[in-house]
Amino acid sequence: VFTETMELANGIAMPQLGLGVYKMTNPEQTFEAISFAIETGYRAIDTAAIYENERETGEAVRHARIPREQLFITSKVWNTDQGYDATLRAFETSLEKLGLDYLDLYLTHWPITGKFVDTYKAIERLYDEKLIRATGVSNHHAHHLEKILVKANVAPMVNQIEVHPQLTQEPLRKFCNDNGIAITSWSPLARGKFLAEPTLLTIGEKYNKTTAQIIIRWHLQNNLIVIPKSVTPERIRENSEVADFILTSEDMEMINALNQDERTGTDPDTF
Ligand code: NAD
Repeated sequence: VFTETMELANGIAMPQLGLGVYKMTNPEQTFEAISFAIETGYRAIDTAAIYENERETGEAVRHARIPREQLFITSKVWNTDQGYDATLRAFETSLEKLGLDYLDLYLTHWPITGKFVDTYKAIERLYDEKLIRATGVSNHHAHHLEKILVKANVAPMVNQIEVHPQLTQEPLRKFCNDNGIAITSWSPLARGKFLAEPTLLTIGEKYNKTTAQIIIRWHLQNNLIVIPKSVTPERIRENSEVADFILTSEDMEMINALNQDERTGTDPDTF
């Protein structure tokens, strides 16, 4: 099981592998999947207010045999709750649903025009009040981050964006790297759409690993935080068994070359 962490700009350690829980809508299944992931060795869970599963996420975290401080919990403020005061209120609601005293990371879900800077200022305040251990955003392009960086006292520590072999996002990754902002890859498996890609299958055969494992390893070796989603125990385990092989730079280049700048999700500029 892969258990390495990444040091964020403020020195805290964020697990580089986490479980994404988008579209986990069945409460029991969600509780079971998160509990199983934690037992397997996952230490990070990525939820959001809009996923409507913060309650189950919190329950699984509180029932885990692993102490709270060894887990890393992320949530996100939804679009309709943006702006300074609304974000503070939304955070309170999320924390209450989760039944936790603090979050490890809180993100602006999408950059809403006219609001995302104030939303981030509220996240900064939550950080000052020690209600979150790190600040961040999601789906922010470089031009959004530039607006935040001139207003912020503390730069966002994480930007969670869509990244996978068909959308490698090299320019934005470079911008974030230059500004000390770690990247989390969402839909890291492109929602399972390209798991039969021949190049990935060939590389997988070489290491006796599945395509999903090859893609996850590609993220990790690119210093990306990765949050694959599955509710299936075998797959949750499979996605974490990526510590026992290393892709060569040649393999990495072959995977980089699969880039098509193709999104599975929405372009952040449409908000
Ligand atoms: P993903 O790329 O993680 O793909 C998940 C799907 O791939 C699963 O539903 C399953 O069908 C398949 N899969 C998973 N493991 C597999 C395996 N080992 N073998 C075969 N198939 C497998 O997609 P995602 O859920 O969209 O993204 C992951 C997480 O990223 C989400 O759960 C959420 O936490 C986060 N996310 C964030 C945003 C955002 O706007 N910030 C948007 C989308 C997702």
